[in-house]
Amino acid sequence: MRFSNLFTQTLKDISKDETSTNARLLTRGSFIYKNSAGVYTFLPLGWRVVERVTAIIREEMNKIGGVELFMPALVERKYLDATGRFGVDIGFDVYGKGDKKPIYALGWTHEEVLTEIASHYVSSYKDLPFAAYQIQTKFRNEPRAKSGLLRGREFLMKDLYSFHKDEKDLQSYYDKVKKAYFNIFERVGLKTYYTLAAGGDFTTGNTHEFQVLADVGEDTIFYCNKCEYAENAEISKLKEGNKCSKCEGKLQKSNAIEVGNIFPLGTKYSESFNLIYSDKKGKKYPVIMGSYGIGIGRLIGTVAELYHDEEGIVWPDSIAPYDVHLMVLENLETRIKNQAEQLYQQLSDKGASVLFDDREDVSAGAKFADADLLGIPTRAV
Ligand code: ATP
Ligand code: MG
Repeated sequence: MRFSNLFTQTLKDISKDETSTNARLLTRGSFIYKNSAGVYTFLPLGWRVVERVTAIIREEMNKIGGVELFMPALVERKYLDATGRFGVDIGFDVYGKGDKKPIYALGWTHEEVLTEIASHYVSSYKDLPFAAYQIQTKFRNEPRAKSGLLRGREFLMKDLYSFHKDEKDLQSYYDKVKKAYFNIFERVGLKTYYTLAAGGDFTTGNTHEFQVLADVGEDTIFYCNKCEYAENAEISKLKEGNKCSKCEGKLQKSNAIEVGNIFPLGTKYSESFNLIYSDKKGKKYPVIMGSYGIGIGRLIGTVAELYHDEEGIVWPDSIAPYDVHLMVLENLETRIKNQAEQLYQQLSDKGASVLFDDREDVSAGAKFADADLLGIPTRAV
C-alpha cells in the first residue's frame, strides 16, 4: 500500500483525556480513532492488524474443528428472557418506534442465540459433538471505558460455543480449546497464565481465564513462578510469597489483563431452549455446552501495552500491519525514486506486504518519526 493513498495521518499530540498507553499510541499512529468513550474505529492500518490477528484465530479455531458462522448483533428480547438475562446492567436495550419496552438488546454474548439455532438441527447423539464460532461486534454498557481497547462499550470478540453429549466429551474439547488458546496468544506475542476464576454472569461453576501480566491490568492474579498454576484473586485463597501447593515454586501476585476465557456451561442454555438429544436407546438428555471468548480489541490493546518504546509501537512480526516499511526520501534523483518503485513491486510480487512511504514534500525526519510510531518490523530506506 502507498502511504499517499492513506487518508489518515499520524498525530504528534492527542487529547490529554486519553490516558491509557495503548489508546495514546494506537491513536497517534492512526491505527484507531475514538468516536465516543469506549467506541473506536479501526482505521486502515489498525484494520490490517485486526485482519492478521483474526487470521491466526481462525486458523487455530478451524484446526480444532470449529466452524465459523455470523450471528445477528440485534438479539430479540425473547432469547434473553428465556434465561433471565434480559435487562442486566451489562446490556444496551433497543426500543422499537413508539415502544415503551425494549424489544431487542445489542448482543453482549450469544449463548442463547446459538442454542436456539442448534435446537433446530440437533436431535440425536449422532449430531454431536460440534463447535461453532464467530468474530463479531459485542456491546457492553461498561461504566469504566477508560482503558482504550482494553475495555470498550463496543468491541470485537471471537466467541466459540461447543455442544456435547456428556461431561467427558466436553472436558476433552475444553482441553483442546485450552491448547488452541495458548497457541493463539503465543503466536501474537503474549505470554498467558491459565487462571482459575469465577463464573460471573455465565455460570455458577469455576471457569478459566487467560491472563497476561501487566501493570495496567484490572485483574489481580496469584501465580506460581515455576509450574505457572494461577488463580484470580476474586476467588483465590492463595498468599503471595507462600510455597505453591502443586510444586516447589513460590507464589507471586500481579496485575493482569484477561485476554480470553473459557467456560463449562453445563445444561443451563440447552434446557432453556429445549436442545435435547436421544442416545442409542432413545433416551433423551439436554446437550452439555461450553463457551470460549477472546477479546480481539483487548488483545491488540494488550500487545500495544507490552510492545512499545518511547517512539511508538513495536509490533510482533506475526501481527504487524505490514512486513516492510519502504521509504523513499525527499529530493532524490528520479533514478533512485524509480528504484524504490521497482523494489516496491518486487517485494509485493514476492508476497511481502509493504507500506511504501512515497509521499512527496514530507521531510526525512517526519518519515522516520512516522516509521518509529508505526512500528513495522523491517524498514527499507
Ligand atoms: P471482564 O472480566 O474483563 O469484564 P468478561 O469476563 O465479562 O470480561 P467475557 O464476557 O467472557 O469477558 O468476554 C470474553 C472476552 O472478551 C474477555 O476475555 C475479554 O478478552 C473480552 N472482553 C470482555 N469485555 C470486554 C470489553 N468491555 N472490551 C474489550 N474486550 C472485552
Ligand atoms: Mg472476566
